[in-house]
Amino acid sequence: MSGHHQHERAGRTTSPYAARIRAIEALLLEKGVLTEPEVQDSISYMEARSPANGAKLVARAWMDGRFEELLLSDAKAAALQLGMEPEHPAEFIVVKNTPGVHNLIVCTLCSCYPRAILGRPPDWYKSFEYRSRAVREPRAVMREFGFEPPEDVEVIVHDSTADVRYMVLPLRPLGTEDMREDELVELVTRDSLVGVNVPRS
Ligand code: FE
Repeated sequence: MSGHHQHERAGRTTSPYAARIRAIEALLLEKGVLTEPEVQDSISYMEARSPANGAKLVARAWMDGRFEELLLSDAKAAALQLGMEPEHPAEFIVVKNTPGVHNLIVCTLCSCYPRAILGRPPDWYKSFEYRSRAVREPRAVMREFGFEPPEDVEVIVHDSTADVRYMVLPLRPLGTEDMREDELVELVTRDSLVGVNVPRS
């Protein structure tokens, strides 16, 4: 079980949860259910999940109407197609902004978030303030992030749960018709995937 110690992080106290996970991990290694390289691969992949995955999905959808259709109808299949690993018991649903509808994502209960795709949620997403205000006064919240949809745009707030996780497909910014896909990726921010803001333009 020498591998066990590779995960100890110097100078950090181990929480009871971490200690329990380490004990389970040690047992799985001992029983030969997992190998040390498999554990390392999983950790690397978890750490690599980031909003960049969401940005890639969005940029591809902007470039390719058929991919957009797939993304909106079966987001996990779309993610798989781009080499991501969206496996998670929860549904993963992508909601599309249009000139008439702006979508905003929240988890009013806790911090449900499409982690399998985007990694860990930002701290503000988990805050009581965001969770309570996003539903009550979504426009005021967006204003604080530096964006507000025009008055005639309907704002739809999606409440994530243990069963359903959402991501926003934002509108492609004007004047980006000549941009390449890899340039478009750079425009898509994490905040625009949650809907508190729009992509860079
Ligand atoms: Fe939650």
